[in-house]
Amino acid sequence: MAKLINVSGLSGKMPACFVLEMDGKRIMLDLGEGPEPGIYPDLAHVGDVDCIVLSHAHMDHAAALHLRPQIGNPPVYATRTTWSFLGDAPVAEADRRFLPDQGACLIEGLTAQTGRCGHSPGGIWVHFSDHGGVTYTGDWSVESNLLPFDMPPVADTLLTDASYGDRDEALEDQFSKIYDACEDGAVLCVPSHGRGPEMALAFLARGHIPRLGKSIYAEIEQLLENETLYDVTQKPVLKALLQQQDYNSAFSTTDIIITTEANAESGHSAELLAEFGANGNFIFTGHVPDNTPAKTMLTNGTAQWFAWNVHPRQRDVIAIADQTRARFVLPAFVDPKKAENLFTILGERLCCEQELTLPE
Ligand SMILES: [Zn+2]
Repeated sequence: MAKLINVSGLSGKMPACFVLEMDGKRIMLDLGEGPEPGIYPDLAHVGDVDCIVLSHAHMDHAAALHLRPQIGNPPVYATRTTWSFLGDAPVAEADRRFLPDQGACLIEGLTAQTGRCGHSPGGIWVHFSDHGGVTYTGDWSVESNLLPFDMPPVADTLLTDASYGDRDEALEDQFSKIYDACEDGAVLCVPSHGRGPEMALAFLARGHIPRLGKSIYAEIEQLLENETLYDVTQKPVLKALLQQQDYNSAFSTTDIIITTEANAESGHSAELLAEFGANGNFIFTGHVPDNTPAKTMLTNGTAQWFAWNVHPRQRDVIAIADQTRARFVLPAFVDPKKAENLFTILGERLCCEQELTLPE
């Protein structure tokens, strides 16, 4: 009998951690922390697993690898790019396994397939072919102007990112609002290995050259080294953007600056906050945890927040369910109260079981 077990992630914005039991193997899908720091999946009753598969390097999917001893210290599978972001993760070289960015693979002997998820460089969904097919998407998006999304194959069971619940606004419309708010300069704070390069392309498309923090510059350099990771038609634009960066002139409050970290808690954005203070137009676009400068500034009205889709909209979740002909759809990382319409549209396909028995 095959099963898909929710450890964490199925009933709210919680760290990702699921266990797939299939063909005598127990495969953990992601092992994250957060989004609020210090929130970990409870592994007390999980038992040993044969391996962990990481969808991508973000902390809510991959930052709890130090808990591996609780589940038998299994090997960990991820793409080379994800491993490059997780360089100092507590996993010995001998325990690191490599997955393709897209294509067929074996995971502990099980027939599987991966594809690009459009959310983070090197991020993937993973599909197991047995038991009618099971797909775990990790985080994904179809709206990126830079990171490609490969539609997964047909599968009976679909465990999908549904972080935004009923949110259905298009990224293009969201960006128009951001663009208007940046007229007199702005510091756009973004996470590492996230939306930074895409945001830069969006400004370029409107004829505006943004200034990049050095970490975003390095991210674009790394992307350019691997054509599987991005839409290669953007290559000349990205190369020109790097050439236009001038780190000899100081960053000013009138520049449009895209830099890390996402909540001005560390890195260059924290340095700019210390330097610009109240003169800076700080803009945040992601999940804002408590106890961060972003939270404080947004609470006292000295910064702005705008939506920037990096997860699927309601229409995208419906489309992936339709196109993969899923019979059982498990919407992850969302509070059911924020997904009432989505759940209604999914109808009989909606599946919120903590332990789902898969078809034979
Ligand atoms: Zn993510």
